[in-house]
Amino acid sequence: MRIAVYPGSFDPITNGHEDIIKRSANVFDKVIVAVLINPDKKGLFQIDERVELIRRVTAPYKNVSVESFSGLLINFMQSRDAKVIIKGLRAVSDFEYEFKMALMNNKLDSTIETLFMMTNAQYSYLSSSSVKQVAIFGGCIKGLVPDLIINDVINKIRGK
Ligand code: ADP
Repeated sequence: MRIAVYPGSFDPITNGHEDIIKRSANVFDKVIVAVLINPDKKGLFQIDERVELIRRVTAPYKNVSVESFSGLLINFMQSRDAKVIIKGLRAVSDFEYEFKMALMNNKLDSTIETLFMMTNAQYSYLSSSSVKQVAIFGGCIKGLVPDLIINDVINKIRGK
């Protein structure tokens, strides 16, 4: 069984993320969306909330599951018997950082491959932080995040 892990912060999940998840789910037997617990970075949503939002959005994809993890991604991969890390690439600016990470992960475990998936051109400008900025200033986030979570994002920002 080919298991892939798609790691990230997903604070919150965007349409760009959902597109990568959908396409990966067509390629692999199983895709685990892995929400990174980073104690140094306080996000908008708590980790459990992010997991819940992604579960809601990915409910139609039967071979997709969602978990959180802390520590080294490689250790999480090993514990799930997963051999492929999925990364999305938006622009050249993503490349340098991802290139370093992929090489480091390969050094830690050479049986694990990182696969890069090109962004859908439609979402190449989209990131969780740009969504938050737009929402904070009252802009419309329809088309940027899945319809199912628009109200969650707006309410969360209002409540802050
Ligand atoms: P961000 O906060 O920048 O959206 P994440 O850490 O949540 O970043 O992203 C997780 C993964 O999804 C990364 O591999 C990132 O490159 C990828 N990704 C994020 N947004 C997009 C997008 N619009 N298109 C393709 N890949 C994306």
